[in-house]
Amino acid sequence: MQFDAQWLLLALAPVFLACIGWEAWHLSRARTRGRYAESARYQWSDTLCNAALALMHQGADKLAWLVAVPVYAFVYDHYRLLAWQPGFGAWLALFVAQDLLYYVFHRASHRVRWLWAAHVVHHSSERLNLSTAFRQSLMYPVAGMWLFWIPLALLGFPPAQIVAIVLVNLAFQFFVHTQAVPKLGWLEYVFNTPSMHRVHHARNERYIDRNYAGVLSIWDRLFGSFVAEDAQDPPQYGIVKPLRSCNPLKATFHEWHAMAHDFGRMRGARARFAALFAPPDWCARYDGTNRTSVPENNTEGEFGSRKT
Ligand SMILES: [Zn+2]
Ligand SMILES: [Zn+2]
Repeated sequence: MQFDAQWLLLALAPVFLACIGWEAWHLSRARTRGRYAESARYQWSDTLCNAALALMHQGADKLAWLVAVPVYAFVYDHYRLLAWQPGFGAWLALFVAQDLLYYVFHRASHRVRWLWAAHVVHHSSERLNLSTAFRQSLMYPVAGMWLFWIPLALLGFPPAQIVAIVLVNLAFQFFVHTQAVPKLGWLEYVFNTPSMHRVHHARNERYIDRNYAGVLSIWDRLFGSFVAEDAQDPPQYGIVKPLRSCNPLKATFHEWHAMAHDFGRMRGARARFAALFAPPDWCARYDGTNRTSVPENNTEGEFGSRKT
């Protein structure tokens, strides 16, 4: 019987839960308790919200594959440019290509408000532990995440392999959501690590919109978005204008609501287009006044992504 890659994350659920159990135990031990910030710890309301968001995301994802896979198949059947010999080389090429596309998707998710409206969910907790990895949006299919993998079909990879590699990438990223693992030496130069990803989740000015890596950290170094974690500036997690809610529905839809509001109040087609597709802080800058001091790369503008 062939394993259907669509069930990969579910199959790994026992591993994920065991790791969460270990981390929660480790953080609560008297010997280690003083070593970690409060933001590392588990809080029932936050963890349950993350779990609910994971289930909602899984349901939406299963539906999305029903649409996306036939699109990949159509492109693969009619427009593929390359023919790969089955084997390790083809899987390696697929892995590297998808990881690069993930970098593009993730960077765009912080700089295009339409995509940020979905991705903000992953950033809106003020805690960071392994359960934060579960914090995903059911709106990713609407935002168009699946469109970013179409080039893989064009490169000659069949749909089942595309689904598999997307999920492998996501599964890997579970392990970088922790404060219990320090910097990992030379691995930091090659792979996305807990230290790298703590920076990504931080709202400190020096850390905002940095470290977009999925599995390989080389893309951030190549494209100038890498920042190292600095012990003198510990990450503060979450979005600049905190959500202050553990309601998974509010976490999922608050930015879509804010975006719709901004779309409605803008005058003219250009401004309305920008309200949807410009960087998340565009509306704040458009409104002028002291909001012009919002840094260019700040995805947390008052009407924007990480500041909403
Ligand atoms: Zn992100
Ligand atoms: Zn993350």
